[in-house]
Amino acid sequence: MSKTKYSAFKVLKEALTGHKGWEPAWRDAEPKADGYDVIIVGGGGHGLATAYYLAKNHGITNIAVLEKGWIGGGNVGRNTTIIRSNYLLPGNEPFYEMSMQLWENLEQDLNYNAMVSQRGIMNLIHSDAQRDAFMRRGNAMLFADAGCEYLNKKEVKERYPFLDMDNARFPIQGALAQPRGGTVRHDAVAWGYARGASDLGVDIIQNCEVTGFNIENGKCLGVQTTKGDIKAGRVGVCVAGSSSRVMAKAGINLPIESHVLQAFVTEGLKPVMDNVITFGAGHFYCSQLTKAASSLAVISMHTTPMRNVVTYLLWKMCVLAVWRLCLWLVVLDCCVCGAASWTCLWTAHRLLTRLTFKNCSLMAVGVMAALRQHLPVVIAMRIYWQPTSLMKLQQLSV
Ligand SMILES: Cc1cc2nc3c(=O)[nH]c(=O)nc-3n(C[C@H](O)[C@H](O)[C@H](O)COP(=O)(O)OP(=O)(O)OC[C@H]3O[C@@H](n4cnc5c(N)ncnc54)[C@H](O)[C@@H]3O)c2cc1C
Repeated sequence: MSKTKYSAFKVLKEALTGHKGWEPAWRDAEPKADGYDVIIVGGGGHGLATAYYLAKNHGITNIAVLEKGWIGGGNVGRNTTIIRSNYLLPGNEPFYEMSMQLWENLEQDLNYNAMVSQRGIMNLIHSDAQRDAFMRRGNAMLFADAGCEYLNKKEVKERYPFLDMDNARFPIQGALAQPRGGTVRHDAVAWGYARGASDLGVDIIQNCEVTGFNIENGKCLGVQTTKGDIKAGRVGVCVAGSSSRVMAKAGINLPIESHVLQAFVTEGLKPVMDNVITFGAGHFYCSQLTKAASSLAVISMHTTPMRNVVTYLLWKMCVLAVWRLCLWLVVLDCCVCGAASWTCLWTAHRLLTRLTFKNCSLMAVGVMAALRQHLPVVIAMRIYWQPTSLMKLQQLSV
């Protein structure tokens, strides 16, 4: 189990100590011979979240999540990252609103940075009829405490001057916004749930495709997989677009047909859009990911040159402090033990400094201090030479 508690302090500590203290976020398990109380097929967001909440809220921990590929390799790792609860019907608005509330506490709950960003989502209005429909939807959202805001044309233009407001075919007449909506980092959601579930004892088994179900007298007793048969008390299937195909192996024909949904990602662009903007007359929306900017921050802690710079600066600060303290100790000692040795020391130091051989003068101080058995000064000298070599390393790697 992962005992690591993630925090800014931990990131800083690891950055300065060569990243040797990180543990794998979750255990890569192999199937247990005596099976599980619950098997969940599919290691996407739904499968992992189901395992996590079964363990956390219902105390069922003898669970395996079977994933044919790798965690987060399905839809959850390649969607457009939007979170929202801006729906109309009573059948879905409370459901999505509960999801929004889960998103709002997810990172604290999982102790994992899923990059939840409540930057807002805005649906553009292009006709009077659409305004009426959006007003109705907005009222439904207010009834469900989801929060929403109507923006008129002027307000939309003020916020986003780059929008084509007076397009002949789709003029923008206003917008319905949900300020609590926004984005998350999709694959981090899967990793966070995997870590949380694994910490609670759930086995996460990757590269394990379910190829069939062992069913006797109408009861499912386990699954057949590429890693052999695994017994189970209950089996849950969370395989998104593969649902019909997988359930057909259990003899169940689902009335579902999967269709391809694709998103387009541009090259990195400088930030121009602080919101998710939805074209109201078709299924088209845009948002800018924080991924690039945020990963830059992470990279800065991970790359060797940057680490050297940070380490070097902190190191230098400490060394200078120790060095000054030691010099004052020498002065104190010399005052106590005799002016002669102090004069000698000081003269050597000044002489060499004037010749600009600063390091030599420091070394002379060190040698003399060593001779006089000033242990702290010797240690300071040792430390002093280390950042100098670190600096060389840094110059080499930049
Ligand atoms: C392009 C695109 C954009 C989207 N945008 C958004 C968005 O902005 N906001 C939003 O909320 N939703 C969005 N979605 C939808 C959302 O991503 C999915 O609803 C969600 O990720 C589904 O999660 P899941 O766990 O059910 O499926 P997945 O994440 O697909 O996980 C299913 C897993 O099951 C595994 N599997 C399949 N067959 C087997 C088998 N036989 N044995 C073992 N494992 C198997 C797969 O490998 C996969 O990892 C988008 C989807 C797409 C494709």
